[in-house]
Amino acid sequence: LFFALVEVPERLTVSYEALVRSGLADHCVSIPVREATEEEILLIHSEEYLEKVKKTPHMSVQELKDFALQFNAVYFHPNSYHCAKLAVGAALQLVDHVLMGKVRNGMALVRPPGHHSMRDAACGFCTFNNVAIAAQYAKQKYGLKRVLIVDWDIHHGQGVQYCFEDDPSVLYFSWHRYEHSIFWPHLPESDYDAVGKDKGVGFNINVPWNKVGMTNSDFLSVFCHVLLPVAYEFCPELVLVSAGYDSGIGDPEGEMCATPDIFAHLTHLLMNLAGGKVCAVLECPGVYPLCALGSQTVLVVPRPCRYSFHMTRPLKGHRLYQRSRRAQDNSHKRFWLLI
Ligand SMILES: [Zn+2]
Repeated sequence: LFFALVEVPERLTVSYEALVRSGLADHCVSIPVREATEEEILLIHSEEYLEKVKKTPHMSVQELKDFALQFNAVYFHPNSYHCAKLAVGAALQLVDHVLMGKVRNGMALVRPPGHHSMRDAACGFCTFNNVAIAAQYAKQKYGLKRVLIVDWDIHHGQGVQYCFEDDPSVLYFSWHRYEHSIFWPHLPESDYDAVGKDKGVGFNINVPWNKVGMTNSDFLSVFCHVLLPVAYEFCPELVLVSAGYDSGIGDPEGEMCATPDIFAHLTHLLMNLAGGKVCAVLECPGVYPLCALGSQTVLVVPRPCRYSFHMTRPLKGHRLYQRSRRAQDNSHKRFWLLI
């Protein structure tokens, strides 16, 4: 039942219907989707893993169940491989259109999500790592030297972290519910002291929430005091957003209290980077209610700011967050001048 609620086709149809209903769809350019090629998937994933996933369309239900049991929190359907290729392809189409200047920015409404997926493994409903592949693709095809990935989903995108933790050309930022490792995926490397490895040290920023109930002020505080100072110094040529909405109010997974309009403001803050080249790719949709997903997705689509919101606390953020921020600052200020 949990699986049925979390990863359902409605998360795309509801989002799109909300775009149409609000009139925003009329202001957007619809970019044709395509399947990613095997070569593109192999930018991040191993050949062995790709070969395994390629067999899933021909598996029986029992074989699919057995295959899924090899991984953590994943299910497969005979159409999963096709959908996963479309999800990657949609992200790459968006990157192409933005980097070629055909559109200024955009959002890829895709499923399955990607940020938990690893080189050799599916994980947390993710088959291929859409955003990680998009970052590698942008570097390879367009010669980009600096890509920023902002992951505002409520889960840690450990798959993205593993891909780039030793790579100084990709700055990965993630906030996530953590509660001292009680929350899934229960990894020590989701904590603030996982700052990257080897040449990539300093280029991985985790903001673990050790308490639920974070509000707009907490989200804005982290953006303004942690992410943006580093991001301006890093000076990305492209911003990718792992855009999950389980960090919004009403989602029982995240249990946070940030209202939907905050995501529009976060998007606008990111649009000041990379000449406005921002590509958001849908991650975890949020479980309940689906209508909230729709409104949040609408709000995140970059457009002139006409939304207002009320801060429930001053920008300095939650007291508990302030304590963890001191640790956060100490873990990163040796790498970045502006923190
Ligand atoms: Zn999530």
